[in-house]
Amino acid sequence: MTNKDARVVSTDSTDMCVACDIDLATCDIIYSAEGALYHSRECGIEDFKHMYGADAERYFNECVEEVTPEDIGLVETSIFTVYSKEADMTTIFKDTVRCSNGSMVSTEVVGFYFGEPNEEDTEQFIGSLKATY
Ligand SMILES: [Zn+2]
Repeated sequence: MTNKDARVVSTDSTDMCVACDIDLATCDIIYSAEGALYHSRECGIEDFKHMYGADAERYFNECVEEVTPEDIGLVETSIFTVYSKEADMTTIFKDTVRCSNGSMVSTEVVGFYFGEPNEEDTEQFIGSLKATY
């Protein structure tokens, strides 16, 4: 009926924002609406104008769902730790890997703690980037 039927989510053609070709695997939040994926709210509303004209923003807001690249299987993340003996400190890293071809999207520091690596502290200090004394 309309071209939205052609935009069914598939695992190998959903890496780009439908409206602007930005790589969705690098986004923190993806906007999913009527089977199409957008990197921003603005892109979604702009695209909806083709179908809904002046009502685009209202329709978009009604059906949009905010998801993460991990939620929809674009990327996989894994946590690992690196221990520095001199500082007696463990740094927690998060790797993000693209599912379709296994390529690295990003590596980021997500936390640290004093002492040697252990699962309990790693879990506890993810998201903790500051030690307050
Ligand atoms: Zn976009």
